[in-house]
Amino acid sequence: MKRKSVDLGLAACVASLILTAGAADLPKVRVLATGGTIAGAQASATDYGYKSGAYDVNSLLAAVPNLDKLAVITGEQVANIGSQDMNDEIWLKLGKRVNAVLASPDADAVLITHGTDTLEETSYFLSLVTKSGKPVVMVGSMRPATAISADGPGNIYNGVSVATTPGAAGKGTLVVLNDTIHYARNVVKTDTTSVQTFASINRGPAGVVHTGKVEWFEPMDRKLGKATEFSIDALDKLPRVDIIYAHANMSADLIDAAIRNGAKGLVVAGVGDGNMTTPALDVLSKAAKSGVVVVRSTRLPTGMVLRNNEINDDEKGFVASGELNPAKSRVLLQLALTRTSDPVRIQKMFYEY
Ligand code: ASP
Repeated sequence: MKRKSVDLGLAACVASLILTAGAADLPKVRVLATGGTIAGAQASATDYGYKSGAYDVNSLLAAVPNLDKLAVITGEQVANIGSQDMNDEIWLKLGKRVNAVLASPDADAVLITHGTDTLEETSYFLSLVTKSGKPVVMVGSMRPATAISADGPGNIYNGVSVATTPGAAGKGTLVVLNDTIHYARNVVKTDTTSVQTFASINRGPAGVVHTGKVEWFEPMDRKLGKATEFSIDALDKLPRVDIIYAHANMSADLIDAAIRNGAKGLVVAGVGDGNMTTPALDVLSKAAKSGVVVVRSTRLPTGMVLRNNEINDDEKGFVASGELNPAKSRVLLQLALTRTSDPVRIQKMFYEY
């Protein structure tokens, strides 16, 4: 009998909490929209072909059922582009906006909607420059908003669920798509059109989320957020870094062109373990000696580019990218060049970040 009265007391207490719970008790999430297929429209649901960035942030949020049960959501349009057009200017605007929004008590978390083509780059950039430990979650979709079985609304629902989960704080920028949570550093787009496109290469995902229920896997072991040495507060542009794709019979012509056009850093999407032809190697070696920072990455989907393995990086003054693919290496090198052009210091950053 005693047990029963305790249970009833607890039940009454929970009921009164539920009755008094309202918008004021929910976490506050600011949605920053940038465009992409998630905001894309076809002429009709069965038409092939669509335009990215056709819907605004309010239309995207209105399409998601029960979002108001998860959080108090406010939306803001930062850009409305296909992410193939993402550029340094929008990165800096977005990064500064994320920092400003999270510094305010009006936001407990940020959710960013973005195209999937360059999401792996924007997310890594944000994870290196966001100074708050509050959650930052990015979502996209592979099917436009008008599609039969559009994946955007589910990804937004899961994204807000992750952003409002206490475990998301301090994990840096997270990417949520197709029920999977990825750390920005590891996530890569792997399929041109499938909804199962993102993979956490070499490591596996950060967790999973199913209809709002979150499960975490491995922690992130690299420095991010306020633990990095990068600040974009005073920046209005980023140094130019180009990617050069290696292949059989590769010449040095594109390397010369990149340097002539002002590249301060070059990332080689090398064959195998970051290799390239002898003529390319010779020109890059000269470039490194003249102050252009050269990072060897790989065009392969998995594996690490190892320092001083087949190429003597110490002698040539190169940086080895480790796990970072060419696109992510380019992001880190751009930020690294805002601090130094010393390849030894930059190699350390590739080990740490
Ligand atoms: N081209 C689109 C974009 O990146 C693809 C997508 O969002 O899935 O904006």
